[in-house]
Amino acid sequence: MIKMSSFDQLCYRHPGREAVARCPACLHFFCRECVTEHAGRMLCSNCLSRLSDGRAEGGRLRMEQMVIFMQGAFGMALLWYFFFLLGQILLAIPHAFHEGAIWQADWWRKP
Ligand SMILES: [Zn+2]
Ligand SMILES: [Zn+2]
Repeated sequence: MIKMSSFDQLCYRHPGREAVARCPACLHFFCRECVTEHAGRMLCSNCLSRLSDGRAEGGRLRMEQMVIFMQGAFGMALLWYFFFLLGQILLAIPHAFHEGAIWQADWWRKP
């Protein structure tokens, strides 16, 4: 038996219940229990909670992501600087070693 009423959609959360509204945010149909009026719109409880604490949560999450990103960037910069210094040291060592070796090889010949 197929219902051909204008609203034969069923609740997204309760398959046994007839939907009365469609959430404009997630576009799912919900029954009377699942929707809540919010700022003139009928939102499902999922989207409502996401909207209400979504701003604070999202802000905090973005901040955390930013901190993680900054730490990563700082770590990379530090690592790069470390290898840069290491390279400089490695470049500097042969000269000093070479000069030192000549001096050590020659010192006994000189009076
Ligand atoms: Zn929704
Ligand atoms: Zn429902």
